[in-house]
Amino acid sequence: GDFPIEVDTLVVGAGPGGYVAAIRAAQLGQKVTIVEKNAIGGVCLNVGCIPSKALISAGHSFESATGNEALGIKTENVTIDFAKVQEWKGSVVNKLTSGVESLLKGNKVDIVRGEVYFHDANTVKVMDENTSQTYKFNNCIIATGSHPIEIPTFKFSDRVLDSTGALNLKEVPKKLVVIGAGYVGSELGSAYANFGTEVTFLEGAKDILGGFEKQMTALVKKGLKAKGATIVTEAMAKGVEETADGVKVTYEVKGKEETVEADYVLVTVGRRPNTSELGLEQVGIEMDEKGLIKVDKQSRTNISNIYAIGDIVPGLPLAHKASYEGKIAAEAISGEKSEVDYIGMPAVAFTEPELAQVGLTEQQAKDAGYDVKVGKFPFAANGRALSLNNSDGFLKLITRKEDGLVLGGQIAGPNASDMISELSLAVESGMTAEDIALTVHAHPTLGEITMEAAEVAIGKPIHI
Ligand code: FAD
Repeated sequence: GDFPIEVDTLVVGAGPGGYVAAIRAAQLGQKVTIVEKNAIGGVCLNVGCIPSKALISAGHSFESATGNEALGIKTENVTIDFAKVQEWKGSVVNKLTSGVESLLKGNKVDIVRGEVYFHDANTVKVMDENTSQTYKFNNCIIATGSHPIEIPTFKFSDRVLDSTGALNLKEVPKKLVVIGAGYVGSELGSAYANFGTEVTFLEGAKDILGGFEKQMTALVKKGLKAKGATIVTEAMAKGVEETADGVKVTYEVKGKEETVEADYVLVTVGRRPNTSELGLEQVGIEMDEKGLIKVDKQSRTNISNIYAIGDIVPGLPLAHKASYEGKIAAEAISGEKSEVDYIGMPAVAFTEPELAQVGLTEQQAKDAGYDVKVGKFPFAANGRALSLNNSDGFLKLITRKEDGLVLGGQIAGPNASDMISELSLAVESGMTAEDIALTVHAHPTLGEITMEAAEVAIGKPIHI
């Protein structure tokens, strides 16, 4: 038997949920031990947010290097060294993950490598290749994240890829099929389309990018089609046959069976929480039918000294949500009264154009019984957007009619991912459209679109 090591706060998983929780807990005076079975930084830094954004940005650079006739820019023989792209992407990931490791060490967090398995409400075993060590903890934050769903008829292989496989390709495919056009599929498919890949999207639902309004997804579809992509909605993927140098994907649309051939097929039909192999049943931690752990407003499970955050609890499976919950859990353990409030939680798709939203949509606000006033402003009426030669899109500000309280907002357009922060701030702090309209926004900037939409909402528009 091994002698148990006693620790104060144990964090399981070093993704954006776990590592942020560990740092905040350490800042608040807890003695923290974090256990990671794979790579520091979790999915987000290693095989999610960061490498995907690097690939998207490389795709943009390549696409814009191929010239722009509207601007009178002609180029010839633009080539791409994809191995170099991958090397650069890896260097971005390494900078960030080693940065996180330094931050953890700087905050005196003990980093342990291994896989955690729960025994009871105060005990885990940490298993390494050939060792097993028992740890006793006072408090624990579980942040074990999620993994891609595998469809039985599409077993992952060298040709049938999950998001990680698609991020790590060694070549630019000539043809790629993407099954599931949620944000991960749409982002990666659009990145490869910029590299010149002929992409076919097969989406089971009526529209791509579920969760975003039709007017927004329509712009993304238009952009993808302009890049030569094919989008088939209400398509049921049936199976895949691996050929000598590619795949043949069978799907059904409107009762008809179709096939499409490609070099690879990327399957992005959602993710599952990593909660089934942790021994949580031995502790009696309550989960829902999807395997998501039930938590209260302080991210506490039904076991009072065990907390859960990030992709393993209900809500948007996004990195900034995991980090937010991590801070709340760390503060709760330290005796602070912090509680989660998701009202200002943004969601972004890094497509073209980018889509971003926070708070309520127009329909959600109406359904919630609000008398709504919408302020909408097009990118095409903004000087900065026009001078960027990128003016497809709009910003929609959803306000409460009686007093202009900002209830939410949606943005489709260049830099929507950055612009959404102002709307998050407005929703989070209970600002009105007048507050935004009275705030001077520098000229010429895309930020002025937010001010102009607020002016529309209060009935005093200048440029529309
Ligand atoms: P994870 O990041 O999954 O980290 C969990 C960690 O726990 C892992 O490192 C894992 O190895 C470890 N672990 C699991 N089990 C154990 C165990 N038993 N013992 C020890 N360690 C364990 N989100 C955004 O907000 N913006 C984006 O642009 C974005 N892009 C994405 C792109 C892709 C391709 C993908 C796949 C995801 C993307 N996401 C994005 C989602 C984001 O990556 C996740 O929401 C986020 O990583 C969740 O954080 P987490 O801390 O809950 O879990």
